[in-house]
This record gives sequence, structure tokens and C-alpha cells, in this order.
Amino acid sequence: MKALIFDIKRFAIHDGPGVRTTVFLKGCPLTCLWCHNPESQNGDIEICNVNKPIGDQMFITEQHIGRHITIDELMSDIEKDRIYYEESDGGVTFSGGEPMMQIDFLEKAVKRCKETDLHTAIDTSGYVPYSFFERVIPYTDLFLFDIKHVDDKRHKAFTGVDNSIILDNIKKLAECGSEIWIRIPAVPDYNATEENLEALSNFISDINAESITRIYLLPYHKLSSHKYDNLNMADKLVNIQEPTANQMKEWQRIFAPLNIKTYIKG
Ligand code: SF4
Repeated sequence: MKALIFDIKRFAIHDGPGVRTTVFLKGCPLTCLWCHNPESQNGDIEICNVNKPIGDQMFITEQHIGRHITIDELMSDIEKDRIYYEESDGGVTFSGGEPMMQIDFLEKAVKRCKETDLHTAIDTSGYVPYSFFERVIPYTDLFLFDIKHVDDKRHKAFTGVDNSIILDNIKKLAECGSEIWIRIPAVPDYNATEENLEALSNFISDINAESITRIYLLPYHKLSSHKYDNLNMADKLVNIQEPTANQMKEWQRIFAPLNIKTYIKG
């Protein structure tokens, strides 16, 4: 069995506790307008043209996005940095795309990690059948769970899918006691409005608070714009401004009544 991945990032420090290896699996059921990894959405290997400087000239070169990897190959990559995980209480994070789109591989991968005593995290959009969660819960220490909008119509307009499965899944996951860090992209004029963030805060307050140990607000940025060009995809948020530091702090304050540590991740 092989997974289709598009990247493995070593020494990641924003995808869970400590120093981690983040494995990015390809394929996502959502098409968020603000996606920073548009190369993750298509569940096939893609070929795109990129501009590459060689000397003082630019050349167009073909780049393949995605490669297949076996569990043994992946584990051998992960093992290279074991000493850093042990010294920092870090581990391995499976991200995407939506890593649970490749549930058979993911289940085996988190199980192998746990068998060798590695801390495991799954970064999920939540848009999968809950039975997929049930398969990985026994081997997963932490879920990084993205929630975006409480209004179903807007959620669908911005991400391509409705939000009911996502909101149901996070409630069930919290009830079963799994540790969850909620991640909320903060995209001005789209989901980062006072109305939506207050509604999200109210939604979180109704969930089992003990399971949710952190909230991260992720400011929208434009660092990925070139990826849309390379993939011949339209960047529909080209006119949206990045939020200011003050805006982020104001939005952070909305979550204060929850008494859950809320961070701004730059
Ligand atoms: S869920 Fe994440 S990876 Fe998927 S489209 Fe949205 S931002 Fe991109």
C-alpha cells in the first residue's frame, strides 16, 4: 500500500507540540478560497510549469507535484529525526490536503508511529465520515481541527462543502475525550468577521471544553499566491488584504470568555 504525498516537512514547529515531521497527503474534499496549499487539493499527481532562475536568466521547468510512498519508506524518513522529537516532546503530524482521504494508509501510519512510541497528530478539515475518526482515534494523541464558518451557506460558498458534518464530527470527537487544538483561518471579509467569530466562540463553548486545549487563529497571508499561478488556478482572493496585528488581537479577545488558551499563529 502506498500514500500519495506532496511534501514531508522536517523540523516543523507549528503543527503540534515540539519539533515535528509533518507529512502532507494529497487530496482534499474542500476548495477553500484562501487555501495556502492549492497543490494539495487534487488527489492525483500533477504537472505544472514553474519559473526557475538559472544564473541571471529565468527558465520554465516542469515540476511534478505528488509522489507515492510506502509505509516503510515513510517510517524511515520519520525516524531520522527521532532524537529531536524526544528532546522537544515532538512527534509526527499528518496534514494535507485532508489526510483522512487516504484513511487506509493513515490508519496504518499512525498505528506504526504509536508502536514505536512517537507522538502523533492529525490535521483535519473534519469533512470525512465519523467512522474514519474512529479508525485513527486509538493511535492519535492530538487532532488539529480546522473550523471555518458557522453559517452553512457561507461555508459552502467559501469552501465548496456544507459544514454540518464538520461541526457534528468535532462535537463527537470532543465527547470521546480526544485532545483537540482548534485552528481557525482568519480571512478578512470572509470568515473573520465579528459576527462569525462570536458565533464560533459560542459554538466552542457548547462543546466539551476539557478536550479542547488550545485555539489558534491563523492570519490569512499572500505568501502562496505564486502557487496559484504555477497551477493555472485562479486566486479569487487577490484583492483581500492581510489582517493587521491589531485586528488579530481584537479577534483573539472574542475567544477570551472561553478560558481556552488562544494563540495567533503568524
Ligand atoms: S481544507 Fe485546508 S487543504 Fe483543503 S482546501 Fe481548505 S485550506 Fe486547502
